Amino acid sequence: MINSPNSNPESDRPMIIDDSDRYSRLKLIAWWEQEKIAAARILVVGAGALGNEVIKNLALMGIGEINIIDFDEVQESNLSRSVLFRAAHEGQAKALVAADMARDLNPDCDINPIVGDILTDIGLGFVADMNLVICCVDNREARLWINRMCWKTNRPWIDGGIQEINGVAKVFCPPLGACYECAMTENDYRLISLRYSCPLLRKEDIQQGKVPTSPTIASIIGGLQVQEALKLIHDLPSAEGSALVFNGLSNNFYQTRYPRRPDCLSHETYDEIIDLPLMAKTATADELFVQLKKTIASQDLTDSSWQIIMDRDFLISLNCRTCGIERQEQIPLSRVSAEQGICHTCGEVCHPLTTSEIECDSELAKKTLFDLGIPEYDIIKVSDGLETLFVKLQNDSPQLSRHAVKVSSQPTNRTGSTSATFQCKEC
Ligand SMILES: [Zn+2]
Ligand SMILES: [Zn+2]
Repeated sequence: MINSPNSNPESDRPMIIDDSDRYSRLKLIAWWEQEKIAAARILVVGAGALGNEVIKNLALMGIGEINIIDFDEVQESNLSRSVLFRAAHEGQAKALVAADMARDLNPDCDINPIVGDILTDIGLGFVADMNLVICCVDNREARLWINRMCWKTNRPWIDGGIQEINGVAKVFCPPLGACYECAMTENDYRLISLRYSCPLLRKEDIQQGKVPTSPTIASIIGGLQVQEALKLIHDLPSAEGSALVFNGLSNNFYQTRYPRRPDCLSHETYDEIIDLPLMAKTATADELFVQLKKTIASQDLTDSSWQIIMDRDFLISLNCRTCGIERQEQIPLSRVSAEQGICHTCGEVCHPLTTSEIECDSELAKKTLFDLGIPEYDIIKVSDGLETLFVKLQNDSPQLSRHAVKVSSQPTNRTGSTSATFQCKEC
């Protein structure tokens, strides 16, 4: 142990550095609270160049729970920009490799990989359990989706984007600030609608443009994202509702604040979430209606027609406009392969007839929620035409199997008590 010059002007005591404490240098930062870092639960979406840098920083600092979602595999071309990947990892899932390597960096962290797609595989309950989400993806569709998930669950998120040696980090704090969609331009909408114009092409069938990036800009923007996360965790003022823009060629760095658009479609926040002891893979939609009616029996609600309003489209049939043939094919639209979407007679791409509403006592309501495209641990929007209710599939909670502690609608730390929530400073 050595005594160091005191860096905290508020204290006259000499500061003790314990070199056997992994976090001793971090704790010298005046406002640093390792307990808050150890209690934080973060979801990182994307384990590419940016995700690698973010995960590395989170692990080094000892973030309590790091969840990593990515559907991709490590390729040789990733090795020039991804600090966690090695040549031997080629062909392995990025999420699994990143989690393994981050555990090696810091065994204190609870690191959970999810090999999957944020658009289809993560329930809202999972996001609601996080303190914040850090987004390291390369497309607008996923960003818009994450934006809406975070607004619905009232969780802040930090976006990152890199190109060549330039980049931007954006901080969004629901419910009152400007969101990602508030800042979207006509061109952003046009590019997203291009992806939607052919709904039967799955993500892997769409030729993604490869964005040129360097490991240096991934470090800079990944570092900025994690620093903003640190501020949110410590309840310090952050860059909420604004973008931190860095031009690496001119070394120009500036912050620009977004105005909140009153007509923005992303500002729905779910309140009063009802926990039901159901699982997506075993409960049918009708079982959800029955449970919900039992639960709210004491409330003054009319027993009219109930509907599940889904976030994702469900395919009813495929129609070939050339042949006039209609083929019944009832699965979630996201699970339709490009091959399935082709007319068996003429080979043209079929037009899908879809729905996003499941009525009580209908044929579709006999299907399990999972078969309707609802992910595990989701929060489901249910309406009887008068009231809208939000139902969480509580028995899918990873907490039930991993920690056996009660999960509230607020994020909980490891001792089970409610941790600090990161509200917009204007709220
Ligand atoms: Zn908005
Ligand atoms: Zn045809």
